[in-house]
Amino acid sequence: RAKSEGRGTFRFFEAAMDERLQARRGLERDLRQALSDGALSVHYQPLEDCRTHRILGFEALVRWNHPERGMIPPSEFVPLAEESGLVMQLGEFVLRTACRDARNWPDPVKVAVNLSPIQFRHSDLPATILGILEEEGLPPHRLEIEVTEGVMIDDTERALAALTALKAAGVRIALDDFGTGYSSLSYLQKFTFDKLKIDRSFVQLMAENRESLSIIRTILALAKSLDIAVTAEGVETEEQRTLLKNESCNQLQGYLIGRPVPACELARFYEPA
Ligand code: C2E
Ligand code: MG
Ligand code: MG
Ligand code: MG
Repeated sequence: RAKSEGRGTFRFFEAAMDERLQARRGLERDLRQALSDGALSVHYQPLEDCRTHRILGFEALVRWNHPERGMIPPSEFVPLAEESGLVMQLGEFVLRTACRDARNWPDPVKVAVNLSPIQFRHSDLPATILGILEEEGLPPHRLEIEVTEGVMIDDTERALAALTALKAAGVRIALDDFGTGYSSLSYLQKFTFDKLKIDRSFVQLMAENRESLSIIRTILALAKSLDIAVTAEGVETEEQRTLLKNESCNQLQGYLIGRPVPACELARFYEPA
């Protein structure tokens, strides 16, 4: 009896697994479709200079408007794209769209694009990126790429070579979600990043939590002595803005400055080129 009950439980478990797998396969098929039929788009979120309030650039954030499920957040479909091999195509779509849109912005305004660690497994990544810049007519200095330390984890040498080649071509390199990983500090001695982005978890707690504020101060001091710029992510209140300004943070990003919006809504942030 116990044996057959066990088998029943197992069958139930199997059916649940099967359902999840089906759902995943369905979503993967939809994503493949979305990549070819225009259901993916790119929104842009402003980054401002902390002292002057001038807009320095915009971060490209991919969006998926699913025909039945509506907006699906990148935290749900970027991992799916990474597991199913679609992330190369997704990454190229975002890069190309971002470079094309950024061409309409005045010269110093940059566009920042997030890259998945998986994209770095292909040794021709720098050539692909530089090719897209050339085809879309955007000078390399107007592109910033954002990587997390995950990029260094599986093949550090290859990742370093790619980052070095891009940097040599004039592309800026930012280390995203800084402070949330395991060993960010060791990467700072392997590669000279142009910017650190302080993860929004620290910013959100800084006003009430002494530890968060200390961590932010430490990151700012470290960046200053290494001569690296810093962006604070997730700034939502004037209080956070003032605190960060007092700590001499360089750049701010967050809902207070602006939410991610389609390219056609950006003109209010800058004087047209
Ligand atoms: P990220 O690169 O750290 O991007 C910042 C995320 O924080 C964005 O979420 C943005 O909408 C959100 N955010 C910005 N300001 C605030 C704020 O004041 N408060 C709060 N609560 N949130 C804020 P989003 O667009 O959902 O993207 C999530 C993550 O998905 C990104 O984190 C990035 O890791 C990834 N991602 C987005 N677009 C791409 C892409 O084109 N390629 C790749 N590989 N990853 C992407
Ligand atoms: Mg980012
Ligand atoms: Mg981030
Ligand atoms: Mg993040």
